[in-house]
Amino acid sequence: MSHNEILESIRKRNPNEPEFLQAAEEVILSIMPVLDRNPAFTKLRILERMLEPERLISFRVTWLDDKGDVQLNRGYRIQMNSAIGPYKGGLRFHPSVTPSVLKFLAFEQIFKNALTGIPMGGAKGGSDFDPKGKSDNEVMKFCQAFMGELARHINHRLDVPAGDIGVGGREIGFLFGAYKKIKNEFTGVLTGKGIGWGGSLIRTEATGYGLIYFAENMLQEKKESIKDKTCLVSGSGNVAQYAIEKIIHLGGKAVTSSDSNGYVYDEAGFTQEKLDFLKDLKNNRRGRIKEYADKYKCVYVDIDSKADHNSLWNIKADCAFPCATQNEINEKDANNLVKNGVKLVGEGANMPTSIDGINVLLANGISYSPGKASNAGGVATSGLEMTQNFMGSNWTREEVDAKLVGIMKNIHDTCLAAAKEYGKPGNYMVGANIAGFLKVAKAMQAQGVI
Ligand code: NDP
Repeated sequence: MSHNEILESIRKRNPNEPEFLQAAEEVILSIMPVLDRNPAFTKLRILERMLEPERLISFRVTWLDDKGDVQLNRGYRIQMNSAIGPYKGGLRFHPSVTPSVLKFLAFEQIFKNALTGIPMGGAKGGSDFDPKGKSDNEVMKFCQAFMGELARHINHRLDVPAGDIGVGGREIGFLFGAYKKIKNEFTGVLTGKGIGWGGSLIRTEATGYGLIYFAENMLQEKKESIKDKTCLVSGSGNVAQYAIEKIIHLGGKAVTSSDSNGYVYDEAGFTQEKLDFLKDLKNNRRGRIKEYADKYKCVYVDIDSKADHNSLWNIKADCAFPCATQNEINEKDANNLVKNGVKLVGEGANMPTSIDGINVLLANGISYSPGKASNAGGVATSGLEMTQNFMGSNWTREEVDAKLVGIMKNIHDTCLAAAKEYGKPGNYMVGANIAGFLKVAKAMQAQGVI
């Protein structure tokens, strides 16, 4: 089948799933040269099989809010591919969650997990439940109802969910408690657990830290480093907070952060003290980022959802790290980044750049890393949490951090080697897609037609 024929069949099978089709298209184009060299993969329809979930579970979640009113949500778990290990991938609680969003995330997760070198298959799940504005009690009630069904489909050797947008330490705690009660067993069925009840040190920091370690590797290729670089960061959640923290540690200057209402531009740059304020604001008080601008007297800009671009990406800087959500950088934003002299775009979020945006970055020689490579530190450290749970012991902060540094360097080098072998030197996107695909494809080939 040609590239167009595969795309056409995927479009037919998955109508009304724009996010999934976007993620599929980006990968299919990169993979064609691999299929040309390996006709057996085409005969076995490996790529098409990877694009079809092994199992898609959809369920009703009913719970009582603080007023005693009945609330209704939809829950999902998409078990996408288990060729190289148990299903692994986060849970997202956000009103925008649909099967299309979760299928794109689960599909990307297959490649990301393969790149980590840890045996983990790909999955994703979540709900259209919005934790924003809910009391702790309501979040707990929802998590218990959600786990009431999810518990039938997961266990520590089959499928190990983690956090994602809207699912942080608080939610993982409630979900873990519910699972333990239902199954009457204490196992490492979720990652991102608290320290003291099965969690791993550095797991909270891992995605953001890993992103900046990856960027350091990219910069070192050009004999540069993040020190003294001005960095744009979007988002103000888990990934953004620890990306900013590592930028500070390495002597760079992070000047922006955002939430779904707006962004702050702090020209002087974040310090650890300012970041601690942001962490408290977002993680404990669950407030809006505007409060940061009010406290530190810096620029605040409301997000204009009708605008054809986001002015955050029109600020002069050296590096850009989108860490909020999918499709944050479109073609126009990418052009603005180029115009303003940005030299590196490292994705902390999953698929934050549109295909047109990626094409602009690559055509202009920007070092660009796809989320499936540069944000893989989170799931890699989840893998380390699973290993510690199986061993029944805990590694120190330094041990886990050193492993994370090594894993990000290995992913970086693996992407570069695959890109070079397939005639696209320096193209991290092509390298990540090919290296991830090859690992899973070989396993599927060995395991027969199932
Ligand atoms: P959080 O929920 O902790 O933070 C998400 C941030 O993005 C918040 O600032 C949120 O703003 C903002 N945001 C969410 N949706 C939108 C939207 N539609 N428009 C504008 N802003 C939005 O999530 P994480 O930091 O965990 O995840 C961020 C990204 O990183 C996601 O793409 C996720 O898939 C990816 N990722 C996360 C990993 C992890 O370990 N957590 C691992 C790998 C990837 P607000 O507060 O207003 O909602």
